[in-house]
Amino acid sequence: MKTKLSFALLFLALMAVLPAQSQRRAKGVVSQAVEKPVVVNNVIFMIGDGMGLAQAHALQLATGEMPAMFKAPVIGLISTDSYTHKITDSGAGGTALATGYKTRNGMIGMGPDSTAVPSLLDIFARDGRRTGVAVTCDVTHATPADFVAKNISRKNEQEIAADFVKSPVDVVIGGGLYNFTRRKDGRNLVSEMKDNGFAFFESLPKSGKGFNKLLVLTDTAHPAPAAKRTNYTLAEATRVAIEALDSRNDKGFFLMVEGSQIDWAGHNNDSTYLINEMIDFDKAVGVAVAFAEKNPGTLVVVTADHETGGLTLIHGQNKRNKGVKFHFSSDDHSGVIVPVYAFGAGASQFSGVYDNTDIFKKILKVAALDPK
Ligand code: MG
Ligand code: ZN
Repeated sequence: MKTKLSFALLFLALMAVLPAQSQRRAKGVVSQAVEKPVVVNNVIFMIGDGMGLAQAHALQLATGEMPAMFKAPVIGLISTDSYTHKITDSGAGGTALATGYKTRNGMIGMGPDSTAVPSLLDIFARDGRRTGVAVTCDVTHATPADFVAKNISRKNEQEIAADFVKSPVDVVIGGGLYNFTRRKDGRNLVSEMKDNGFAFFESLPKSGKGFNKLLVLTDTAHPAPAAKRTNYTLAEATRVAIEALDSRNDKGFFLMVEGSQIDWAGHNNDSTYLINEMIDFDKAVGVAVAFAEKNPGTLVVVTADHETGGLTLIHGQNKRNKGVKFHFSSDDHSGVIVPVYAFGAGASQFSGVYDNTDIFKKILKVAALDPK
């Protein structure tokens, strides 16, 4: 008893003479441990389909300006391989980003055993948050489909369109009207979605404010490439989608924005097409980041499902002219890791080198959502 007491006294005496600095350090450790977690209400998830580092750098070289995405305070890199292939397609690549599952190439929102799995959009909606997709392809194309639909094949676009009626999605902007209205089963999905409360437009409304449910199908099939697209820019679509989601926002929202045709430019080995698509996509990133700056609690994550074209930047014809040539080494996807640019609340979670399926986990973690 006496020994214990003397030890206690000795301890107290030591505490009293501890240098102030180590006490401060000790306090710092404590305050870090109890630091309030970042609250992420809104997530704007932006996918440049086929956008590798070289595509982003090519944008900078072609415009002579710092791309909006390059202003990200946090940068990461992700691997993009699928369950079946070292080189993914957009179906499996988007499924990994949307659901956290690696799956078979060509699949939409399903695990490799063909079981439907919830996407980020489903999980945010289940939590009572609003959800949307805004793209520059058919809305039933692989990437948006990965967030909204479940199908064994990306080719079943009419079945995928029918999933939009069942989905909790609130805002849909893109092309692909005919998959909704000229159908083998005779259904008119636009009428069905109107019955479910959607306002429907064939051109982008000036503002999204006040819309609870908004369906905008601007083209019968895919919208035109950015250089020829006169009906909307991805930046405008992003603004309208955010306005619609945010104006009735109580718990927050999840919006997926896709620069869909960066991939097609890569397949075509067309650098002019590529730069125009990158400009269109990066302006949309600018809109999202500006919103995040004004609205604390908003996370913006910009990444890709895979790289397309094996793009590299090499010497022009003449080494002495110091020019650079955009050189495509493939007309297909490549397996190279792709960049992640993160802004706003929770962004610090996205640094490092990790797997495409980790994006799903990280977004749920910062948004305090359970995947189950
Ligand atoms: Mg896509
Ligand atoms: Zn592709």
